[in-house]
Amino acid sequence: MRNHLATAGLFLLTCFTHSVGLAQAPALIPMHRPDQILVMPRPGANLAELNSFHSRRESGVQKTFHGIRGLQIVRLQAGETVAKAIAHYQQSGLVEFAEPDYEIQLYATPNDPKYLDGTQWALNNTGQGGGTPDADIDAPEAWDVRNSASNIVVAVIDTGVRYTHEDLAANMWTNSDGSFGWNAIANSNNPGEDSGGSHGTQVAGILGSVGNNGAGIAGVAWKVQIMACKAFNSVTRNGNISDAVTCLDFARTNGARIINASWGFNPDSAALSNAVLSCRNAGIIIVAAAGNSTQNIDITPSYPANYPFDNIVSVAYTTRTDTLAAASNFGLTNVDLAAPGEQICAPFAALDNFYFNNNTGSSMAAPFVSGTLALMLAKFPGDTYQQIIARLLAATDTLPSLAGKCVTGGRLNARKALSPDILLTPLAIMPFQFSVTAGPNRQCVVELSTNLTTWTAVATNTTSTNGTFNFTNNLAAPPQFFRVSAAP
Ligand code: CA
Ligand code: CA
Repeated sequence: MRNHLATAGLFLLTCFTHSVGLAQAPALIPMHRPDQILVMPRPGANLAELNSFHSRRESGVQKTFHGIRGLQIVRLQAGETVAKAIAHYQQSGLVEFAEPDYEIQLYATPNDPKYLDGTQWALNNTGQGGGTPDADIDAPEAWDVRNSASNIVVAVIDTGVRYTHEDLAANMWTNSDGSFGWNAIANSNNPGEDSGGSHGTQVAGILGSVGNNGAGIAGVAWKVQIMACKAFNSVTRNGNISDAVTCLDFARTNGARIINASWGFNPDSAALSNAVLSCRNAGIIIVAAAGNSTQNIDITPSYPANYPFDNIVSVAYTTRTDTLAAASNFGLTNVDLAAPGEQICAPFAALDNFYFNNNTGSSMAAPFVSGTLALMLAKFPGDTYQQIIARLLAATDTLPSLAGKCVTGGRLNARKALSPDILLTPLAIMPFQFSVTAGPNRQCVVELSTNLTTWTAVATNTTSTNGTFNFTNNLAAPPQFFRVSAAP
C-alpha cells in the first residue's frame, strides 16, 4: 500500500517481505496495524447506539475526527483479528465502512519538470515515446529507499562541468580554495567547459542534477558532491594520458569515492593502468563507458573499461525499448552491465538553464551507474567497494538483448541495487526447506506463524556473497507459514 503524504508526518517504512505457505496459500493483504482499524459512522447513524456497540465489544475509540464526518480510530479487543473486527462492524449496520489501518510509506516524487513530463524515460518508462514500459532503472522506487548521497564525492573526469548551471551548482564538490575541481589541461583550479562543448556537464547532470528543485531534470542522486576534473577539450574532445593521469591522481587524493570515466583509450598506456591501480588500492570505484563503435571489447579493448582490476565497472548502453543500442560496444568478459544511453535528457553547458533531450552513447549510460553507486555507498556505509559492486551486479534486470553481451546479461536497476527483493524458493517438502535470495551479505530474519497473525523469529542468517542461504525447518507443527525480512 503506497500513498502520497499530504503533509509531513506519520509514515512507516515497510520491509520487502514475502511469505511462503506449507499447508495452504497465505492470503496476502497489505501490511497494517494489527491492533486497530478505521471506522466511518453511517450517515445519520445513532451515535449513542454506535458508542454502545463499541462498549459491548470492549473496543476503545482512540480518536474521533469531527471534521472528517466523525471518522474513528478504533482499538481492537485483546486477541481479536483485524479481519474479524472489520466483519463485526460491517455487519452492525452502524458504519459506512471499516478498514485496516494500512502501513504507508513516503513515495518520493521529485518536482523537476523534465522528470514529471516523462522526458527522463530512463528513470521511469511508462511507454512514452514508443518505449517499452519498465525499460528503465526503477528510479522512483529506488528514491523511496534513498535519493541523497550528500556525503559522497563523485569525480567526473571529462571536459569539465558548467558548475554555475541551475541543476548543478548546489551539488558541486568544493575544494578548500572554493574551486570545484581541477583543470589538468590548463593546470588551474577552474574546471569549466570550453565554449561550445558540454560532454562533462551532461555526464555530471545525469548522475547528480539537483532533484526536487523545480528545475530541469532529476539526477539519479538528488544530492551528491560532483568533483569536476577536466582532462579533455570540450570542443575537440581530445585529451592526453597525462591529463587523465593528473585527474585520477587529483580525485584519489581529494576524497572521491567514485570516478566516472565516459571515455576510453586504445592502445593501452602503462601510465594510465598504474594510475587506475592506485585508485583501486584506495578503494575507489571507476565506472567506465564501454564505447560506441559496435565492437566486442573482449577482442578490441578499450581502457579503462578493459582493465582486469576489481574496481572497474564497465557499461554498455540500451534504448528505451531495452535493446542493446546498435552502436554500443559489448563484451562477455569486459563489459559488466548496460544502462540507458539513447535519447537521454541532460543539462547543457551553453546556459545555466539549458537542457538537451537527445544525448546518446555509453558516455550517457555510465553516469546512471555512477549515480546509483553513490546512493549505494551512502546507504551501505559499512560495505567494501567489492561488496558494493557485487550488490550492483547482482541487481540488474536480465534482458534477452544482453545475453552473451556482458557479464551480467542485465541492465541497471537502482531499486534492486538499493534494496534487493527477497525471494523464497521451496527446495524440499519433508523436512520443509527453502532458499532465500536477498542480495549479497544481507542479514535476514526468518519468521514462522501458524495463523498468519502472530509471527515468531526462528532464525537469523546472512546471505553469502552470491546472495543466498538455505533454511531447513526442523520444527514440526503444521500448518506453518514462513516469511523472511531484512532491513531495506
Ligand atoms: Ca520502472
Ligand atoms: Ca532539477
